[in-house]
Amino acid sequence: MARQLIDQFAAKVPADKRAAVYLGTKTTHEKRTQMLLDQFADPDRLRQLAGEIKQHVLENLDTYLPQVEAKLTANGARVHWAATGEEACATVLQIMQARGATKMVKAKTMVSEEIGLAGYLEKHGIEALETDLGEFIVQIDHDHPSHLVRPIIHKNRREIAQSFEREGLGVYNDDPATITRRARQYLRHKYMAADVGLTGANFVSAESGRLLVVTNEGNSRFSLAAPRCHIALVGIEKLVPRDRDLGLFLNLLARSATAQSLTVYTEFISGPKLPTQPDGPEEMHVIFVDNHRTEVLASDCREILRCIRCGACLNVCPVYRQVSGHAYRSVYPGPLGAVLSPLLAGGHFADQADLPKASSLCGACQEVCPVNIPIPDLLLRLRDKAKREHATLAAAGTPPMGAWAILASQPVVWKAALAVGQIMDYLPLGLIPVPALRAWTARRTLPGWRGGEFRKWLKNRNKS
Ligand code: SF4
Repeated sequence: MARQLIDQFAAKVPADKRAAVYLGTKTTHEKRTQMLLDQFADPDRLRQLAGEIKQHVLENLDTYLPQVEAKLTANGARVHWAATGEEACATVLQIMQARGATKMVKAKTMVSEEIGLAGYLEKHGIEALETDLGEFIVQIDHDHPSHLVRPIIHKNRREIAQSFEREGLGVYNDDPATITRRARQYLRHKYMAADVGLTGANFVSAESGRLLVVTNEGNSRFSLAAPRCHIALVGIEKLVPRDRDLGLFLNLLARSATAQSLTVYTEFISGPKLPTQPDGPEEMHVIFVDNHRTEVLASDCREILRCIRCGACLNVCPVYRQVSGHAYRSVYPGPLGAVLSPLLAGGHFADQADLPKASSLCGACQEVCPVNIPIPDLLLRLRDKAKREHATLAAAGTPPMGAWAILASQPVVWKAALAVGQIMDYLPLGLIPVPALRAWTARRTLPGWRGGEFRKWLKNRNKS
């Protein structure tokens, strides 16, 4: 199944895009590694510490969630709890309808993607406009992001220029500066006209109730400046215990995500504007979203909830580099998505149970993860779960192993297979009579047959 997934999507991704994804991810990964080694004496110790802090929060959510609710309420925000994605969408809609609001500007939030908020609001006659440039392009193209922090890593500037021309944002011009300027001009008017600004939160301090939002484009700041109402959609796992922990996480997040020392804009949001302040939202709502997270917390894969959505595991993953993000059929691609998406699917686990197989288990994802999530272990646990709970899914991997068991346990069959194997060197692969095997060999060059070498080697070794 995973092989099908990889082959199917790798074949569909044009070579130039695959090369662009490979180069983009490789460059960011190398810069990140160099930066961490140059700037910190022991980056691994930092990753372990960050992982321990997040694990501590997860194991004490019953303490920290009430604490953060009390702080936010004291700061003047209204706190809402949404058990499901549908509840979260409905809460956003209620807040907007209560204000007679019809226009929203959105800074990037993965939770809103996860619950399909923009589509839901659109159905109810509300405009919800993405303001992150990449997300904006994804939105006008009715596409999906293919990377956590670089949502249009799969698009080139010619395609973007065509989209802008189609949407009436100017005649075709694929100069990146022109594209950016046109988006900026278009979005500035939208910020001014919006009734509500929606953000996520990269972190929430349980100690002070502060929300932290980081962006490189300043769109979160614009989304909070003009609208009179701010809604923050936050996964329940986003807490850190104290304000002083934020220094560690900001340092790790920026380096891991984009190989920057610090993301360009960091917003600390403590509540709605005070009467003494000249501007800012006068009303603030924080919606904490569960959407199967408590089920993940109760499972043996709870470590995945430490994730700070940096994308470093995508950048280093040999599978992601080949297939790009859409292959994972979810808003969370790469090794993170291969673990998180099946878990967040709840009762639809079987639909995504093939994703944990889309990994070579090389371990590179864990090595780069700033919160030290044991991703390969989690992938194995999910493969095991899929095998135990959905035997039919596991069956796809069974026939090859069954054939191998016969070969390896019957010397006569083994020797016969070796003799046949030598013929493979002379067989035109395109003429193989089995269609599935023909498709498999169409994109591979088999090495020359070397069967029989082991026995020869062992005999000679015993002689010497
Ligand atoms: S799993 Fe780790 S490396 Fe991957 S996105 Fe999450 S925090 Fe980053």
